[in-house]
Amino acid sequence: MSKARSGVCELCLRNDVERTIHHLIPREYGGGPNDTSKLCIPCHKQIHALYPNLELAVRLNTIEKLRDDPEIKKYLKWIVKQPAGKLPRIKKSGYKAGKR
Ligand SMILES: [Zn+2]
Ligand SMILES: [Zn+2]
Repeated sequence: MSKARSGVCELCLRNDVERTIHHLIPREYGGGPNDTSKLCIPCHKQIHALYPNLELAVRLNTIEKLRDDPEIKKYLKWIVKQPAGKLPRIKKSGYKAGKR
């Protein structure tokens, strides 16, 4: 299907994964078009499953800060072992369905 968006995920750094645009600072909190990063689908879902937009906007608004977060570190240890083609199940707790 659409392989056009494949590349390296900026968070887990896995290669050849399908990526989506994540707003590091959501627009509702003043983020601009450059405050985005390209994340694989599991990373993107995991971030939003763990933290509400407000916390992302004020505390975790760069890739470096995200990588430094203890919960995300745990997740990253796990995801780097997952094959790029596979979409692992992400815990739904706290995750609000819908696209961001
Ligand atoms: Zn990733
Ligand atoms: Zn996002």
